[in-house]
Amino acid sequence: MVSSSRIISEFMALSRIDRLSKREREAVHFVTGKLTALGLEVYQDQAHSTFGGEAGNVIAVLPGNNPGFPPVMFCAHLDVVEPGSGIEPVVEDGIITSKGETVLGADDGAGVVAILEALRCLIDSGTPHGDIEVVFTVAEEVGLLGSKGLERERLRSRFGFILDSGGPPGEIILQGPAQDSLEATFFGRAAHAGSNPQEGINAIQMAARAIARMNLGRVDEETTANIGVIQGGRATNIIPDRVELKGEARSQQEDQLNKQVLHMQGCLEKAAQEFGGRVEIRIERQYPPFRLDPSEEPVHIASKAAREIGIEPRLKSSGGGSDANILNGYGIKCVNLGLGMQKVHTTEEHIAVQDLVRAAEYVLALIKNCAVSKA
Ligand SMILES: [Zn+2]
Repeated sequence: MVSSSRIISEFMALSRIDRLSKREREAVHFVTGKLTALGLEVYQDQAHSTFGGEAGNVIAVLPGNNPGFPPVMFCAHLDVVEPGSGIEPVVEDGIITSKGETVLGADDGAGVVAILEALRCLIDSGTPHGDIEVVFTVAEEVGLLGSKGLERERLRSRFGFILDSGGPPGEIILQGPAQDSLEATFFGRAAHAGSNPQEGINAIQMAARAIARMNLGRVDEETTANIGVIQGGRATNIIPDRVELKGEARSQQEDQLNKQVLHMQGCLEKAAQEFGGRVEIRIERQYPPFRLDPSEEPVHIASKAAREIGIEPRLKSSGGGSDANILNGYGIKCVNLGLGMQKVHTTEEHIAVQDLVRAAEYVLALIKNCAVSKA
């Protein structure tokens, strides 16, 4: 049985550990100790060497006690967003919050402790299961860097579950968009704004014209685009010779994304040409899309397990990126599951104790259903 006092105290202990993205050394140490104590083989990969982090992803295996069952992966991330150092968790009336100066880090500490508690219950109960592969990633919040650098050849699972969605328990994310980032620098020509403006080329005006022509916001049902940062200029009496833009586009459909990015690129180039200036554009694929069919194994198992613990499953698509985008790209079919954490990435982040307990029960039900699926 899942123990509410045990999961709360583990959650509180993890919450007190500073674990901002790329600085997860102590959190890695914490979960490594827990997993080792449970009898898992624990390995830390070298993903951090690709982005200058403190520690790599934790990959642990609980060997199966029934060779007929398929291996399954469970994944959560260790890092938290800013303001996230010195978190002081508080439990009050069944709700866990931070003291208010920081995020709580239920995103994704809730996923981490749910997996740990479920493993503990599984081992105690002697329930039959296949190999269970646990992946605790680092630097998820800063561009999925941990999962991008994951030593994926160490994993045998063909499917799995990610515990990292803000939705209510029972929400199953089976689809997510691809994202491209776009950075552009316009180069004009500086001149005195009062005495000889005719010699200048205004980079801000160039950028403005380009942006004014762009389709932004919700482009269509599956595609969004945004210019989120603009920087440039030095003084009102100088015609600005340089301005930088940062933006992004996302779509559930890769061809729609490519079309949108080409459109944005076209607007930038056309404006530069019209003004006789120049633009440098950098476009980078941040992550690929993923899409599972409702009939696929992890979706089916996640729905069945939810009903078993008394919650109604709801299949949804996500507008954001997560480790699910990267892991599905590796050929590990996985859904992202709602944990009930609220107001993530704010200082009002909180989670109900009941949801924390339910998340662990859910993981346990998932493991049991994986075993049943091939039995
Ligand atoms: Zn998260």
